[in-house]
Amino acid sequence: MRRLADPRVLLVLALVAYPLIRPYDAYPQVVLLMAFLLATQAVGWNIISGYAGYVSLGHSVFLGLGSYTAGIVGARTGLNPFLLAPLGGLVAVGAAVLAGSVVLRTRGHPFVIITIALLLSTQVIATNWDALTNGSDGITLALPTWSRDILNLPFYFAFLLLMLASIGFSAWIRRTKFGTGLVAIREDEGKAAAIGVDTTRYKIAAYGASVFVSGMAGAVYAYFLTFLNPIGAFSILGSVTIVLAALVGGRGTLWGPVIGAFVVQIASELATVYGGGTQSRVLVFGLALVLVVLFLPAGLLPTVEAWWRRRHPQEVTYTDHAGALAKRQLTVRAPAPERPAGPLLEVRGATKRFGGLVAVDGADLRVDAGSITALIGPNGSGKTTLFNLVTGAMRADAGEVWFDGRRIDRLPPWRRGHAGLGRTFQVTRLFKAMTVLENVVAPMPDARWRSMLAGAVSGHEAERARELLAFVGLERFADQPAGALSYGQQKLVELAQVLMMEPKLVLLDEPAGGVNPGLVARLAEIVRDLNSQGVTFLVVEHNIPLVLDLCDPVVVFERGRPIAEGPPSVIRTDPVVLDAYLGHDWSDHEAVPR
Ligand code: ADP
Ligand code: MG
Repeated sequence: MRRLADPRVLLVLALVAYPLIRPYDAYPQVVLLMAFLLATQAVGWNIISGYAGYVSLGHSVFLGLGSYTAGIVGARTGLNPFLLAPLGGLVAVGAAVLAGSVVLRTRGHPFVIITIALLLSTQVIATNWDALTNGSDGITLALPTWSRDILNLPFYFAFLLLMLASIGFSAWIRRTKFGTGLVAIREDEGKAAAIGVDTTRYKIAAYGASVFVSGMAGAVYAYFLTFLNPIGAFSILGSVTIVLAALVGGRGTLWGPVIGAFVVQIASELATVYGGGTQSRVLVFGLALVLVVLFLPAGLLPTVEAWWRRRHPQEVTYTDHAGALAKRQLTVRAPAPERPAGPLLEVRGATKRFGGLVAVDGADLRVDAGSITALIGPNGSGKTTLFNLVTGAMRADAGEVWFDGRRIDRLPPWRRGHAGLGRTFQVTRLFKAMTVLENVVAPMPDARWRSMLAGAVSGHEAERARELLAFVGLERFADQPAGALSYGQQKLVELAQVLMMEPKLVLLDEPAGGVNPGLVARLAEIVRDLNSQGVTFLVVEHNIPLVLDLCDPVVVFERGRPIAEGPPSVIRTDPVVLDAYLGHDWSDHEAVPR
């Protein structure tokens, strides 16, 4: 009963009931079914362009491919277009995956250009490949077989069903780790790669997923129109309408594209009826796009939600202090205390230049399994850059990186993550649009499809994430947006995030920088605890008392290469180190040099 009261369920029931009650309202039925079709496409578009942030400007090409599949195969086999719909979906997915495999290996803008090129080139092919498509003369499909009495009813319900399928598919994706990974890519692609998200695969899969239902809808649409030609099937106006619908309703949200599709469809009807046809529609849409981007950048749904939240603020308590942090036990999943002591990480002759500046200069570094190794040195000595070379955020100009017996310097960052390498960042890079819990669930410890499709909001992955949050003492912030936490708390969340990857080695880049002393003590405790369970650490830190207390050995970096290495007791008195970094008047009890 409670489910029935859900407004979404009521709306669907109303949409189902309406044509049954008023079967002869032919015109409103067509307006509605066109809205279903637009919503189907906008919801699909939202998967690649809303969740993952890769804007497709030629998305109507997939509707066209579905249509042509039904037209061509239907004409040759006599099969009903309804039966050919899944094939239309597969053809669309095939095209998306093919194009995506080429262009989605790179980041950013090339994708937008390629999506338009895909639309236009498909139109050209459809126009010129006469033998297959009958060129610009187009294809006429068989007329529907059902009685004229029921008019468009089968189409109405087919499009309604496709829209619901599209929404269900999108909702499911958003709840998986795949969906979380897509949002991670949108928010910070480099960081996503560092936490094991195979960004290339995710993007290609998202592009494919974003067009399947649209391809199916294309086959049904061809049947509905009974006539296809290249200009109509691969129109740029259709693509712009999809983008407009998603932007109006709220890109990146589940329901935004649906709401936007209805708004745009009805507006477009009004423009056609009162404004004088397609020409004016182009004008109206162009103007609407400009207005939406200017005045409603987030779209209707997010704007209304934000307004609602302001009217009904939720109580949030941030009375968090170090003293209140209860220590929780945590077992890391694959403890390896019996690992033979030896190098877990080895950097050999690594060099990285930025123009004329040599940031890392033929550096060697060795981190033994089971150690907490420190890397200290003045600002600008190349410590963070060395981390980037080790994790794959940057490629070295020369040198090798070996990890756990394998050479890894040619691997993409996520493969290094799967091998057991985790890092935190000097300036935390949490995904601000996600909750704290989602941030911790997002990392991918391996490359299996099964892990990708595991639930992110509930299930064992979310449970493990809660456990890790409890371990760093921030469980009760699980459902807060990550940006609402203090800087120090964000650093701890980032550590929990890294632990989700079940790393063998964790690189911490200035974990105590800008963090209050209570949280620093907590952090040291966490590092010790994990280390006793077999996790190795490499720590860059300026808080020298902390380093001398926590770490052994200590490596001192200067100008892109190590100048000294040894146990803390030796390092604190080493004249070279005092000279280069600590200063001769340095003592343990003094203020921490920064
Ligand atoms: P540290 O972490 O030891 O403070 P970094 O590795 O951040 O040092 O920087 C080493 C040197 O490389 C600095 O001079 C810095 O300005 C330069 N550098 C770091 N990253 C870049 C970059 N992406 N582009 C150009 N120069 C950089
Ligand atoms: Mg640094």
